[in-house]
Parts: sequence; structure tokens; C-alpha cells
Amino acid sequence: MSSSVHGSAIPTLDLNDGTSIPQVGLGTYAMKGDEGVDAIVAGIGNGYRLLDTAVNYENEREVGQAIANSPAGRDELFITSKIPGRHHGYEEAIGSTEESLARIGLERLDLHLIHWPNPSVGKYVDTWRGLIELRERGLVTSIGVSNFTEAMLEQLIAETGVTPAVNQVELHPYFPQTELIEFHKSIGVQTESWSPLYRDQGLFNEAPIAEAASAHGVEPAQVVLRWHLEVGSLPIPKSANPARQGLNADIFDFNLTPAEVDAITALERGRMKDRDPLTHEEM
Ligand code: NAP
Repeated sequence: MSSSVHGSAIPTLDLNDGTSIPQVGLGTYAMKGDEGVDAIVAGIGNGYRLLDTAVNYENEREVGQAIANSPAGRDELFITSKIPGRHHGYEEAIGSTEESLARIGLERLDLHLIHWPNPSVGKYVDTWRGLIELRERGLVTSIGVSNFTEAMLEQLIAETGVTPAVNQVELHPYFPQTELIEFHKSIGVQTESWSPLYRDQGLFNEAPIAEAASAHGVEPAQVVLRWHLEVGSLPIPKSANPARQGLNADIFDFNLTPAEVDAITALERGRMKDRDPLTHEEM
């Protein structure tokens, strides 16, 4: 762990390309329109510096507006977007990224990801070559992927020699992805967790989470987000509610015991929906 981002209590982690990333980010899925802009500005006010958007969330303009409305300087913020399936391919990835930058109103993204591998399309390696070119041109600082399997990561590295900085995957106590996290660590990829709170669909009532919350005097959501840090992942919880945003970012002054971590990991039961990246594809 390295130093805190200026103006925020959220520490940063080092990435394999020499840059750093905030240890918790704000998911922005479904934050749209003026309400969405206000929710993202509130998130920045609550200490978030990493904002996670995507072409397919149709809210890159809202993220750009929030950056403009917020007192935080551009260099304090860490903006992630994602290339959708319909823009796979070398030239398409470059064009897609230029359009994202224009919508957000930025000259450079901090992190840009391939949103889904879509293996039946067979273009994720070409898309990755486009991201490598974008990094060389200075339009993106760090490049990564989302929903990639171990074999897909190995293929990208074998064919291009460039290891993604990040793999953003479904990860929560019901789907802890223990082996994938270990693989990521072995090749220097930072794991990011999407749907880290299981979208508040019952996880918080689970005994090991409720018990740890009462033992540490915190909320169950804070226990879940702290668990992500303890297992070596970087959660990007989405909340449009300022109080919950503040709570979700306030996870740096307590630790879970190894026994608590293990009990929470043992809640494993599988994915939220059938979104196995070998078969689930998004355009
Ligand atoms: P999530 O962060 O697990 O859960 C969000 C839900 O939990 C919202 O309904 C939110 O409601 C509620 N919530 C947040 N904090 C809470 C708290 N402290 N107590 C109770 N409820 C709370 O799910 P997600 O939005 O699916 O995932 C997070 C982000 O990951 C997304 O926004 C997106 O940026 C990214 N994502 C990426 C992919 C991918 O394929 N790469 C897929 C899915 C998501 P309120 O807003 O009302 O607080």
C-alpha cells in the first residue's frame, strides 16, 4: 500500500505498470441524468477518487459533468471506463476510446478495460492490441480487462507480452473467486470486485457477516467491503445514497481476523446470475 490520494482517506495500491489506484472505487451503474450527476458529485465529496463507468452504462457524460461540478482536481481523480463488445477489434477499440474521452470530456482515462471477452467473437486479443496502442499514444494511463478467465489472461500475455494491470470480475462472499485471486497475484494483476455487496440481496443477514459487524461495531456492508480488502481485491460498491457512500468508504480503521475472513469466504455458493464469461456475452 502506498500513500493516500490528496484530499481523500482512501489509500492506494500499486499497479504493475508503476502507477497506483485507490483501494475502493465508486460503481456508477444506473447513475444517470441530473440525479446521477449529483450522486457522483456526492461520492467524490465522500472521499471516492476512483469512478467506474462504461460505454454500456450510458452515463459517461454524467461522469464528465460530475468531474466538472466537483471541487476535486482532475489529477486527484481516477476514471475507469470499458470498451463494449460491439467495439471489439484493434481500430474499433481506438475509435471507441476516443468517443468515450469526448463524452467524458477528458484527454486521458486512468484505466480502460475490455468489458467482456465475448470469446465466440474471437477479437479480444485484437482489442487488447488496440488498448496497448492507446497507452502508447497517451490516451489511457493503465489498461486492463474485465470478466477474463485465467486462460484468457494467459493468452493475452503470450500473444502480446503485455500483462493487464487489472481484471474486474464478479466477486463477493457468495462467489469469492479464491483461485483466480491467487492466479492474479502470481502474475501481478490487481483484482477488482464488481457487485461487491451482492447488490444488497440478502448477504448482510448472513451470520458470519452480522457477527463480525457487531464485534467491530460497524455495519454489515463495511464488513463485506473490508473482507474484499483482506482477500486482496479492490471493491467498487455502487451507492447513490450519500450516507451509504460514506459508510462504504469508511473501512480503513478496523481489520477482520483470519477466522472472520475464512468464515465469510465459506459462504461461497456461486455467481449471482449465470454470467460465466465463457458463455455470457455482452455487446
Ligand atoms: P453492488 O455495488 O454490490 O450493490 C449496489 C446496491 O447495493 C445498490 O442497490 C445500492 O443501493 C445498495 N447499497 C450500496 N451500499 C449499501 C449499504 N451500505 N447498505 C445497503 N445497501 C447498499 O452492485 P453493482 O452496482 O452491481 O456493482 C458495483 C459496480 O460494479 C457497478 O456500479 C459497476 O460500476 C460495476 N459492475 C461491473 C460489471 C462488469 O461486468 N465489469 C458488472 C456489474 C457491475 P443505493 O444506491 O440505494 O445505496
